[in-house]
Amino acid sequence: MTDDLRIVVMKFGGTSVENPAAIRRTAEIVETRRKRGQMPVVVVSAMSKVTDQLLAAAAAAERGDRNGALAISSRLRNRHLDAASALLSQAALTEMRPWLEDQFQALDDLLRGLAAVQELTPRTTDLVASYGERLSSRIIGWYYTECGLNGAHVDARTCILTDDQHGKATPLEAPIEQSLRNHVLPLLRARHIPVLGGFIGSTQAGVTTTLGRGGSDYTGALIGRGLNADSIEIWTDVDGIMTTDPRVCPDALRVKTISFEEAAELAYFGAKVLHPATILPAVQKNIPVWVLNSKDPENNGTQITAVAAHSRTPFKSIAIKRRLTIIDVVASRMLMTHGYLKAIFEVFDRHKCPVDMVSTSEVSVSLTVDSNEKLPAIAAELSRLADVKYEASKALICMVGGNIRGQRGIAAQVFTAIRHVNVRMISQGASEINMSFMIEEEDVEEAVCALHQHFFQDPDPEVFDVASRTAATASTER
Ligand code: ADP
Ligand code: ASP
Ligand code: MG
Repeated sequence: MTDDLRIVVMKFGGTSVENPAAIRRTAEIVETRRKRGQMPVVVVSAMSKVTDQLLAAAAAAERGDRNGALAISSRLRNRHLDAASALLSQAALTEMRPWLEDQFQALDDLLRGLAAVQELTPRTTDLVASYGERLSSRIIGWYYTECGLNGAHVDARTCILTDDQHGKATPLEAPIEQSLRNHVLPLLRARHIPVLGGFIGSTQAGVTTTLGRGGSDYTGALIGRGLNADSIEIWTDVDGIMTTDPRVCPDALRVKTISFEEAAELAYFGAKVLHPATILPAVQKNIPVWVLNSKDPENNGTQITAVAAHSRTPFKSIAIKRRLTIIDVVASRMLMTHGYLKAIFEVFDRHKCPVDMVSTSEVSVSLTVDSNEKLPAIAAELSRLADVKYEASKALICMVGGNIRGQRGIAAQVFTAIRHVNVRMISQGASEINMSFMIEEEDVEEAVCALHQHFFQDPDPEVFDVASRTAATASTER
C-alpha cells in the first residue's frame, strides 16, 4: 500500500517544540528528510509542560478554585498566541486567531463547569489534557504551510482510535490503519507533510481519549506501523538512549545501538526517554526506531533494531523508576496454600494496579507498585487475607543488557559497587536481560553513579559513544 513512499514518522517531544525557535528547528530537520527523498509524517507533543499545566487547571477546578483554573488557562492562551504570532505571517495569524480564541473559550467553559460541580472524571481529564497536542499540532501544521513545507494538519483523534479506558486508552489496530489510509495517505500522495498531535485519540463513538503520559512516542509508533513506515524517529532533548538518565549521572554516554528487547525493558522500567508501549508496533513490522536530539540533529543518536549488537560491556543502560511503594503481605502457614497468590493478585487486578516486582518467602509476599491513591483501598482488601504493611518512597534500579545472559559474577559486581546502599528486593527478570533491585529513593544518585562508574568506565566503543567523553575530557583539560 505504501511501499513506494519511503515514509519516515518524525515525533518531536515537548522540549523540541517548546518555543518558536525550537519549532523552527523542527522544520529544518523535517526538510533534511524531505531532501533525502523521504516522506515525513510529523507527530508533535504539547509544548513543554503544557500537559502538566492543563492537568493542574483541571485539579484546581475540581477543588472549586475557578479563578486559579482560569488563570492557568489564560497563561496558556498567551503562550500559544505568542508562539503563533512569532511563527506566522500577519495574514495567517488573522485567520488562525479566531480558532485559537474558540479553543480557549471552550476550555474555559469546561473549567468553569468543573469548578461548579467540583467533580473530575477520567473522561473529562482526557478532554482537558488533549488541548495541549491539539493546539501545538495546529500551530505547527500552520507554520509548516507558511515556511514552504506544505504542512497539513490532521486531528489525531480521527486516526488514533482507541477503547474507552480513559487516561491510558488501548489503540485499535485495524481501525487506526483504515483511518490512516483514509486521512493521511492521500495527503502524502499529494506531497503534503501531515502534522498530527501525539498522545490523543478518540473512541469510535468520538469521545476524546489519551494514551497515557509520555504517549506521543506511542502515537509515532502506531502511525509508523499503520503506514508501514521505513523508519520512526523520536526527536528529544538528549543525544539518544544514554547509559543512564543524564540528569542523575552527567557522565552518561550515548548508546549507539540497542535491541528492541533491551529498549522495551528500559522503557518499561522507567527510562523516560521512550514511552513503554512504543516498541511493540515497531517490532511487529520490524521498523527501525531512532532516538535523536533536536538540539543537535547531526548527532547520530541511538538506533533501535531487531538484533542487539554484541558488546563486551555487559549492560547497555541503567533505568530508574521512582515513587514506588513496597507492600508486604505476611501470612504464616497460608502462603503456599492453593489459590493464595491468586487471591492476592486478584486484589491488584480489581483495582487495575500493575505490579512491578514480586518476591516470596515462606511466610510473606512482597510486591512493588507505583505509589498511587488506590493503595489504602488495596491494603484494606489485602488485610482480609493477611497482615499488610506498605512503605512509600522506594525506587527501582533496573540494569539492562542482552550480554548478561549466562555471564558469571555480574550480580556480585553489582552489589559490590553499591555495598553502602540498603537493598530491599532483588530480581533477575525472566527476560534474562535485566537485573533489578529496590532501594530507598534518597539513595538513587549514589547508587546509580556508583554502578555507572563501575560498568561504564571502559565501555565498548563499538556500542557506546566513547569519543564524546574523550572530547569532553580534552576540553576540560585545556
Ligand atoms: P520528550 O519531551 O522529548 O518526550 P522526555 O522528557 O519524555 O522527552 O524524555 C527525555 C528525558 O528522558 C531526558 O531529558 C532524560 O532526562 C530522560 N531519560 C531517562 N533515562 C534516560 C536514558 N536512559 N537515556 C536518555 N534519556 C533518559
Ligand atoms: N504531552 C503528553 C505528556 O506530557 C504526551 C507526550 O509529551 O508524550 O505526557
Ligand atoms: Mg516523552
